[in-house]
Amino acid sequence: MTLNIALDIDGTITSNPAFFALLSHSVHGDGGKVFVVTSRSNTAAVEKETRAELTAYEIAFDALYVIADRGSEQQIPCPHDDLDWYQQYLWQKVKFCTDHDVHIIFEDDDKVVTLFQRFAPDIQVFHVR
Ligand SMILES: [Mg+2]
Repeated sequence: MTLNIALDIDGTITSNPAFFALLSHSVHGDGGKVFVVTSRSNTAAVEKETRAELTAYEIAFDALYVIADRGSEQQIPCPHDDLDWYQQYLWQKVKFCTDHDVHIIFEDDDKVVTLFQRFAPDIQVFHVR
């Protein structure tokens, strides 16, 4: 079975770019998908810089997903009313990964890890420290 993985950038890829370059090429070469999922600001300029940064790190990826800014029209409405606004914003990562059949996510943010454990328990989380 091929694996689809998601990689956070800040504190994750940036913690060890060489490791994540190797991992991404391995997954990609095996026919799996590599999604880079980040909560950086979703402007065209930031996305362009981020793509250049990923290229410099030699990360092989199928798609870059910058979650929509809070309150923007693009923000995916979160159905979980008990979450605060920040959790609802971060929950967009969970939504993306469940919609894209991600099997494993690499993530450093405790809040994001908690959301995956609660709302996507079938996705394995590698919590980067
Ligand atoms: Mg991070």
